[in-house]
Amino acid sequence: MPRYRTVEKSFLRGRDRAAPAMPMTYRGEVSENSTRLADGRPGTLPTLARCCAALAATPGRLLRPRRPDREFLASLTAAPAPNPAATVRLTALPQARMATPAIIVAEGVRSLRELPMSMGAFLIEHPRARFLVDPALCADVHERVLPGHPFPVGKLVSPDRPVLGLSNALAARDLAAADLDFVLATHLHWDHVAGLLELPDSIELKVPAVEYDWAMRGDTAPIGVIREPLRGQTFAPVALDGPPVLTFPRSHDVFGDGAVVLVDLAGHTPGSIGVLLAVDDGTRVLLAGDAVWNTLQVKLIREKAPMPGNLFDADRDAAFRTIQRLHALPADIEVIASHDYDAVLARAGR
Ligand SMILES: [Zn+2]
Repeated sequence: MPRYRTVEKSFLRGRDRAAPAMPMTYRGEVSENSTRLADGRPGTLPTLARCCAALAATPGRLLRPRRPDREFLASLTAAPAPNPAATVRLTALPQARMATPAIIVAEGVRSLRELPMSMGAFLIEHPRARFLVDPALCADVHERVLPGHPFPVGKLVSPDRPVLGLSNALAARDLAAADLDFVLATHLHWDHVAGLLELPDSIELKVPAVEYDWAMRGDTAPIGVIREPLRGQTFAPVALDGPPVLTFPRSHDVFGDGAVVLVDLAGHTPGSIGVLLAVDDGTRVLLAGDAVWNTLQVKLIREKAPMPGNLFDADRDAAFRTIQRLHALPADIEVIASHDYDAVLARAGR
């Protein structure tokens, strides 16, 4: 049996924590890689100061979570989604897992249990194109990408080993990078684009221009962004130039047939988008990126606790409005947050 299948299985079991061997070609590049990773990395002291402020703000919110804006919620009406003239096949490609206390994923949830979290890509097959939503992780992400975070962010977000690299995740579905027409990112945080390091620079990365500018402009990257996987990648801006769809104010119909419609989920990052799919099993799925980390937040209308939300949500007020828009969706829309382990695994097929 090929090795990648073994790695994928052990990921699904979540028991085998042995690290995959580092590729030989990488060993000689450590110092050069370190230099590139340091370029644009936020400073340690400002990051520590933000962590301390976020921690200090957290206990109060665990007791008294932020309340939904009843007026805003009441104002939300669902515009019709385009009637699809085509459908897509959707396959989740889970690549890594970790666990986070439920109490900080959805503030005010009084539970000591840990929520399993998934990291990975989604494969979308449309009659006219095959593409990924979120080229998430490369195989050696702990060595090759995570050192690009300032201390202590890398410690907070590090997935369990092993990590299934994007090439191996594709190979497990009998696919290679050459079979992809483009990739699309829900946003540009590291854990959604690090797999670009295993794809050729010529593959187009589709994201809104506002997201790309936010991630790449200026001397210092926002917390959560590591620029190295993005450098040199062909960037193809997408404009949310279409009408309101469901409870979202702007949209873009990628193929003009209603099968893949991008919607505005700004807040977690300025250009966060959701991907509304007409799936070939008859369901309507919204890939919601990190607008929420778990559907629990949609159900209860709860934002992440200040730690880690104040670090990773670029605009907390806009992010909370987006959670309320997700809550107000018609019941037949299946929301899949990128890190919602159960929701993702249910779409992983075999
Ligand atoms: Zn993420």
